Formats: sequence, C-alpha cells, structure tokens
Amino acid sequence: MNAKTGKTGQCLCGKVKFRLTDEVHEVGACHCDMCRRWGGGPFLEIRCMGPVEFEGEEHIVRYRSSDWAERGFCGVCGSNLFYCIVPDGPYMMSVGALEDQTGLKFTSQVFIDEKPDWYAFANKTKNMTGAELFAMYAPQDGEKS
Ligand SMILES: [Zn+2]
Ligand SMILES: [Zn+2]
Repeated sequence: MNAKTGKTGQCLCGKVKFRLTDEVHEVGACHCDMCRRWGGGPFLEIRCMGPVEFEGEEHIVRYRSSDWAERGFCGVCGSNLFYCIVPDGPYMMSVGALEDQTGLKFTSQVFIDEKPDWYAFANKTKNMTGAELFAMYAPQDGEKS
C-alpha cells in the first residue's frame, strides 16, 4: 500500500488491510436483524462513496446477503469488514476495523424500528426506520438489507 492519505484499517489477524480513498467521518449504526445476527450487535459503519483499496483481497469472503448487497469478512479470522451495495458500492466499512478513530462523528441510526429495547445509544443522531430508509434510497419496499 502506498503512502497516500485516507484512513486505514485491518482485520483482527491483519491478513486484510484497507484504505479509504475519500475523507469520511460520519459513522452510522444499523440495528436491523440481519446486521445484529451478522455481528452480534448493531453494525457500526463508515460510508465510503469513493473506492476502497484492499490488500490481501484473496482472504476476503463475500456473502451475498440480499439481491442488492453483500457482506465481506476475513476468511482467516472472521472479522467483519464491510457491507457493500453490489456491484460497485458504496462500501460501508466496519468502523471498528479503522486504525485511527479520531475525528469520527456518530450521526445516524437506521432500522431504529428493529432495535431491541434492551440497549440504546445516548448520542444525538438522525434516526430512521427501515421503511424511511428504503423510501430514501431504493424502490424496494419493506425489505431488509
Ligand atoms: Zn483476518
Ligand atoms: Zn442492517
């Protein structure tokens, strides 16, 4: 990987490394039941409109979780890496994989209607239900990501 700017991250074992090519700071949470089943809790992600550069891409396992998206994780250590709209993104990178956690802002939560009632984030964020999210981004109605 060359020495450009942009946040970098890696999985737990370090076989997969990545660099974000755009300057992004806003973190979102998804409370949908698929994300919670996938990661054990809400998926905390940083949305990258630009491409993401990967190193060790041969270790990434991609799971097609819906007609329009796939989820990537490290096949060696199992770390979740991203949720990605197919075929070209954007990539929602797992914020926990980032090296540098400074300057991030937690700004939004989606599928707030699927959040279990035993936890809640205290941050002031823009919250949307699944239906509100799909109304904004996709013609499909009422389907989960
Ligand atoms: Zn790994
Ligand atoms: Zn989700």
